[in-house]
Amino acid sequence: MSSSGFYRASGGMNNRRGNERHNQGDIASERINRLMAMAQRHASMGDLSQADYMVSLARRISMKAKSPIPKELKNNFCRHCYRYMQPGRTSRTVINSKEGRVETICLKCGGRRFYRIEKSRLVTAIAPRNDALRVTKKTG
Ligand SMILES: [Zn+2]
Repeated sequence: MSSSGFYRASGGMNNRRGNERHNQGDIASERINRLMAMAQRHASMGDLSQADYMVSLARRISMKAKSPIPKELKNNFCRHCYRYMQPGRTSRTVINSKEGRVETICLKCGGRRFYRIEKSRLVTAIAPRNDALRVTKKTG
């Protein structure tokens, strides 16, 4: 026997984010950073399986602690198969000057990622045909 015909959730929208978890998050992000740095080092030494392993550990910590992996570190592994992406070895970077973006293709699973990059930077980085990429420099 409920008298209310419909329930209006007004004021129940407060996001309750556990502040007490803040410290844990800090520790987690520190560990994630360290693991990703290790992954980078392993990859640079040619040990990609170890690099993959470090990425998987970092992801596990990230999920457990609900501490997101920083964007710039996310770029280091495939978002589809979570393998470490090393340009030229496990990933291929294609510059799509038409779209003004960089496409990174994982050579393990074929997954793609796009990065928007600053057009001015794109030009200095690869110097493409200028007509394909209409560069408008910001003034001011
Ligand atoms: Zn992949």
